Amino acid sequence: MDFQAFYQLSYGLYIITSVWDNKKNGFIGNTVFQVTSKPPTMAISVNKENYTHDIIAESKFFAVSVLTRNTSMDIIRTFGYNSGKDMDKFANVTVQTSENGLPLVLNDTSALFECRVIKTVDAGTHTLFIGEILSAELVQPNADPLTYKYYREVHKGKAPAKAPTFIDETDIKAGEEIYTCQICHYQYKASAGDPDHGIAPGTSFEDLPDDWTCPVCGATKDLFEKN
Ligand code: FE
Repeated sequence: MDFQAFYQLSYGLYIITSVWDNKKNGFIGNTVFQVTSKPPTMAISVNKENYTHDIIAESKFFAVSVLTRNTSMDIIRTFGYNSGKDMDKFANVTVQTSENGLPLVLNDTSALFECRVIKTVDAGTHTLFIGEILSAELVQPNADPLTYKYYREVHKGKAPAKAPTFIDETDIKAGEEIYTCQICHYQYKASAGDPDHGIAPGTSFEDLPDDWTCPVCGATKDLFEKN
């Protein structure tokens, strides 16, 4: 099986949230798709080990925020690389409680959906939740949605120049060392530094402060490997 073939499948990236018994959580997922238009339904695939999985299974409701291309690293780090068991993911985001009581994340969101689960399919490691769409709202009509391909390329440093972690490979000096985060594949390059976090261009990886962490996922320095 050629796993590269899977990269030919197109996906978006979404924050999927739910709430049950005063526990609210959300995570970044890529498997969201419309199933039917009459009635409007959509499906999500959720890993059973995900904290939000059990919350959706109990509440039978979920909400989807469609992320935009300009989604901040803070949002990706908070919802993509942390567990709601350890932190309140909603502490530093703009969240609105819907009429159905669902937490709707508004940051970097182009559209919002709310669903009531009408069918659950056991898919082994994952559960497929099929939901009747209760509401659909366009938040940023002109925003481009973030795709999984774009995200992957951005964080591997092959992204368009507007992306926050863009690294122009033509700028890589001969012999320059690159260190890659083993968690999220962000690449640190000395000539680019990490100006958003006070690291000036030209700072070598060795000279980064010990408490510097990956700007994407928050991994510590020891989780980086030299390419
Ligand atoms: Fe990382």
